[in-house]
Amino acid sequence: TGIQRSASFEAGFIARMKKAGRNIAILYGSQTGTAEEFAGRLAKDAQRYGMKALVLDPEEMNIDDLPQLTEIENSLVIFCMATYGEGDPTDNAQDFYDWLQQGETKLNGLRYAVFGLGNKTYEHYNLMGEYVDRRMAELGGDRVYTLGLGDDDTNIEEDFVTWKEGLWPVVCQKFGVEASVEDGSFRAYTYIKYDSDEIDPNTVYKGEVARLHSYKNQRPPYDAKNPYLSPVIVNKELHKGGDRSCMHIEFNITGSRMRYEAGDHVAVYPTNNVEMVEKIGKRLNLDLDTLFTLNNVDEDSSKRHPFPCPTTFRTALTHYLDISHPLRTNILHEFAEYCSDEKDKEFLNLLSSATPEGKKEYQHWVMDSRRHLLAILDEVPSCNPPIDHICELLPRLQARYYSIASSPKEHSNSIHICAVVVEYKTLDGRTNYGVATNWLKNKIPVPAEGVPQPTVPIYVRKSQFRLPFKVSHPVIMVGPGTGLAPFIGFIQDRAFHKRNGKDVGKTILYFGCRKQSEDFIYEELLEDWKKEGVLTELNLAFSRDSEKKVYVQNLIENNKQSVWDVIDNHGHIYVCGDARHMARDVHDAIVDIVCECGGKTHQQAVDFVKALMNKGRYSADVWS
Ligand code: FAD
Ligand code: NAP
Repeated sequence: TGIQRSASFEAGFIARMKKAGRNIAILYGSQTGTAEEFAGRLAKDAQRYGMKALVLDPEEMNIDDLPQLTEIENSLVIFCMATYGEGDPTDNAQDFYDWLQQGETKLNGLRYAVFGLGNKTYEHYNLMGEYVDRRMAELGGDRVYTLGLGDDDTNIEEDFVTWKEGLWPVVCQKFGVEASVEDGSFRAYTYIKYDSDEIDPNTVYKGEVARLHSYKNQRPPYDAKNPYLSPVIVNKELHKGGDRSCMHIEFNITGSRMRYEAGDHVAVYPTNNVEMVEKIGKRLNLDLDTLFTLNNVDEDSSKRHPFPCPTTFRTALTHYLDISHPLRTNILHEFAEYCSDEKDKEFLNLLSSATPEGKKEYQHWVMDSRRHLLAILDEVPSCNPPIDHICELLPRLQARYYSIASSPKEHSNSIHICAVVVEYKTLDGRTNYGVATNWLKNKIPVPAEGVPQPTVPIYVRKSQFRLPFKVSHPVIMVGPGTGLAPFIGFIQDRAFHKRNGKDVGKTILYFGCRKQSEDFIYEELLEDWKKEGVLTELNLAFSRDSEKKVYVQNLIENNKQSVWDVIDNHGHIYVCGDARHMARDVHDAIVDIVCECGGKTHQQAVDFVKALMNKGRYSADVWS
């Protein structure tokens, strides 16, 4: 695979650390790559302070060895732990989390520090970071520095930089190391350029996620490292007016052996905008078809290359690297060194400095204006970083998740999604285009027979968002905008049972959109289900059709007694869509109803709803 294990990997990590004179282990729980990226940056910092670190994926190490870290002089373990979904650990940290919970291994005297990555728009903000920090202490660990909490809703980059600025002096003092930073750039990968006759074209990666030729020779089972190239068989517009676009897309999964349930997510590996890649090539005066490899300088690392190599710059920029996220401060810091104009250099140094002015300018100029690689290179003309260094620094392009908008009971051979095309004007007057949605927009099925359909690499990610086990139990589904997606699958499921003569409980939907005539998606389908009696109630909130805004939670408030009756009769509540405001507002409306109709105090009602959540009777599938 592209990410190969080095020969020494099989040896325990403690032995590997001892052999190479390393004293710091950095573990990451990462879902979208940010925690992993931060872990890598901490390792580079350690090197600047004259120490040596090893970055570890908890999934690929023997965690039982962790207490032995104290055998190494001046040892420390740093955790970069993201919280995912409903306060859950990331996939790669699940086993580590279970291990911590069991708590059978004592960690006496093990020095540690934790940085948590979370998002304040979610209910369970940074739960994992807080848990690891607390639990390590309970098991005897020695906290060397206060827990850091990063909020991706505001500026996680700033939170991280501020935290590590505080961490290192403390660590240096503890270890009696001089806290003077050795400046200069440390390259984590060695760049090797090839002439085209130097390399067998069959060994060159062309965009595969991991296994070479996996897109040519497709082999189940399909998962995150081996996605299925699914043909797009339907791609149609759901909005009837207005200036936004919402796509209904159907992926054919016939013969893939992929299974899904209503409520699951499908992950899509997008491709970057080809024109943007061309423009980057032009701006940096590159031959995009140059063949190259980046090899990890650290031979003990389990990660040989930052992405599948050998490949070309074109492939790396198109398939492997995130070229549209606003650049992080560490990249701007490295870029400063490549400015021939002193003013440009000063400006990039300011943006990446941890001073109050630097942070303010970074927030304003980079984050608020959503400036990505190309936007920054265009505005800092004397900055000419070598492309191999850029490839080393940019984060990996991530898969995007979509709530599946179908049920296998009605569509066993296809997976449907509905997605709003992301396009917005930035503060500095550019237009930014969402990577995945704008790429999917052009995946139009070919009407002619025998012509291959456009394909999209996908895999199914199981979720906890599930209909009640008993179909007779009533459900309330709240899903404004694209939050309707999973409920299309849920209702198809219930319709199937009803048609098969089962006693199906009340099926109640709350949907909201801006204007009935524009973005009322799946209108006909929902009306038909209402007529059929599959949908017991269809409650609609059009926010921009009247003087005063009406939202789903307002309708819920108007139906207090009927909502309470559902809750009181084994009912399940589901909320999907916007995490920022809607999910919280709906939660508050439900708490009010439990107070009023259930005769509880506010605190009792909050606890009651919490208990519903723990029992899986109040589930949220939300994103921001
Ligand atoms: P990107 O290139 O990733 O750009 C999006 C980013 O641009 C945003 O994160 C934000 O930082 C920025 N941005 C967007 N709008 C603005 C603005 N107006 N001003 C400033 N910055 C802005 N999406 C759906 O449409 N349907 C679904 O069913 C769905 N289900 C999801 C389920 C889960 C579990 C999760 C985690 C997400 C889901 N999403 C869904 C969101 C989806 O994964 C993508 O984030 C979305 O489609 C955008 O992807 P993109 O690549 O087109 O945009
Ligand atoms: P949308 O069309 O923007 O909104 C759907 C409806 O919800 C509208 O009527 C809207 O009203 C209403 N609404 C706004 N605030 C609300 C609140 N606090 N409580 C209840 N209803 C509220 O929705 P969408 O395009 O499907 O997107 C839903 C959300 O998902 C977005 O807000 C966004 O945060 C998120 N999203 C993110 C991405 C991404 O790029 N990461 C992509 C897609 C969606 P008004 O607008 O009239 O106030």
